[in-house]
Amino acid sequence: MPDNCIFCKIIAGEIPGTFFYQDEQVVVLEDINPQAPFHLLIVPRKHIRTTVDLTTADNALIGHVFQVAGRIAHDLGIAEDGFRVVNNCNPAAGQTVWHIHFHLLGGRDLGWPPG
Ligand code: 5GP
Ligand code: ZN
Repeated sequence: MPDNCIFCKIIAGEIPGTFFYQDEQVVVLEDINPQAPFHLLIVPRKHIRTTVDLTTADNALIGHVFQVAGRIAHDLGIAEDGFRVVNNCNPAAGQTVWHIHFHLLGGRDLGWPPG
């Protein structure tokens, strides 16, 4: 585990965190600073720094992330209205945690284009 990776520490149980959902590939957390009525983080268990660091070995993992997103949105009752899956990559996009993750946002109208 890389030093000081907050998501690796949460996944390892070193920092307390409640998993909204988990399986062998991902954990899902409620964002501590929610930007919508539903704001979850889908976090691969594997430490990958950014989207740019993905390789073909991760293809199935990323497909799984989106399948989980759709299933959770359905279970939350926001799939029909609409929701958004967001990955911020590197500083100009607003990435602040250097362990790849995907925001699942919904429960309100989401503006476009994003800020
Ligand atoms: P980023 O800005 O990298 O795309 O997203 C990081 C997200 O992680 C932010 O929305 C932030 O609120 C959230 N976050 C940061 N630290 C923690 C934490 O310790 N626990 C949880 N659940 N979310 C966190
Ligand atoms: Zn990590």
